[in-house]
Amino acid sequence: GFKCGIVGLPNVGKSTLFNALTRTAAAQAANYPFCTIEPNTGEVAVPDPRLASIASIAKSKEVVPTRISFVDIAGLVRGASKGEGLGNQFLANIREVDAIVHVLRCFEDDDITHVEGRIDPVADAETVETELMLSDLESLERRVVQFRKRASSKDKEALTVLPVMEEALKLLQDGKPVRMMLAGIAPEDLKILEGLNLLTSKPVLYVCNVAEGDAATGNEHTTAVEAMAQQQGARTVVISAAIEAEVAQLPDAEAKEFLDEMGLDEPGLDRLIRAGYELLSLITYFTAGPKETRAWTVHKGAKAPQAAGVIHTDFERGFIRAQTIAYDDFVTLGGEVAAKEAGKARDEGKEYVVQDGDVLLFRFNT
Ligand code: GDP
Repeated sequence: GFKCGIVGLPNVGKSTLFNALTRTAAAQAANYPFCTIEPNTGEVAVPDPRLASIASIAKSKEVVPTRISFVDIAGLVRGASKGEGLGNQFLANIREVDAIVHVLRCFEDDDITHVEGRIDPVADAETVETELMLSDLESLERRVVQFRKRASSKDKEALTVLPVMEEALKLLQDGKPVRMMLAGIAPEDLKILEGLNLLTSKPVLYVCNVAEGDAATGNEHTTAVEAMAQQQGARTVVISAAIEAEVAQLPDAEAKEFLDEMGLDEPGLDRLIRAGYELLSLITYFTAGPKETRAWTVHKGAKAPQAAGVIHTDFERGFIRAQTIAYDDFVTLGGEVAAKEAGKARDEGKEYVVQDGDVLLFRFNT
């Protein structure tokens, strides 16, 4: 599965957010309740209004959302990169996730101790990022020596990997995260970079945890975080973990009323889950029939056989073609039969790149 790791300094609201996430998911997907894989990992349903539209047209008995995982990664301390106890475990946990959800404290509350004794989310972000950069720097510096040697004796692998390593190393030496080289990177270089398994090359989403009164508007701290995020090409979500914790426990109708009062049109967690999904470069395709309408997840750029493989490896192996109806056509025309009559059901082959929202029906050899 795809995993987002929740990180941040102590007392910023990580656990509050994680607990709210896992509770809401249970409410959203009664058929597939939140399940605890490990104590700190939870799978949540990805909210997607398209599911209900398709299901009502296809008269499906069940609706099955797709899911992503969140991991509560506690235990960051200054000096984590020096590899002391908790710090090591913290870095190892981050290495295992696909993307980072970085929670920043943007609420004032004298009763809740801030580890640095002041509210400054941008400085907090730098504190965490510095630990990650130091860890990457140390691991790259160690590896690059060997690769330079191998490259100078014309070792083929080293010659392709080294330029990517050197670029990443240069960024780290300048005090910048490796993620800065992601924009416009060539696909083959991205593969190499991913192979290096660095911490600061993972995509980041900043979550500004604000006081209840600031949830709809943000505040001076969230503005500062947004400016920082923009420079890095990262995204920001403003959320009040305290509100989310309350909403997650309310029945739907009451939750809606409560959100209205706060000036919010949907739970912040829905925004967070969707942003996490986009952060991972994931898209959704659907299968629809009388039994169920179901959402499936693939990486952006996945071809039809790979998409089929998400359902079953046999579907990928024996792939023949995929009947493909764009979501808009499916809904506007009123379903599969009507879409076929209108000539909007395409037969796509092995090279077809799946588009977000496609309603697919696979033909395959068994
Ligand atoms: P963690 O250490 O980052 O996991 O932080 P916790 O989720 O345990 O939160 C630390 C403390 O801050 C707890 O007492 C929470 O109730 C409190 N807290 C979390 N979010 C908010 C918030 O949005 N506003 C206020 N006032 N307190 C919060």
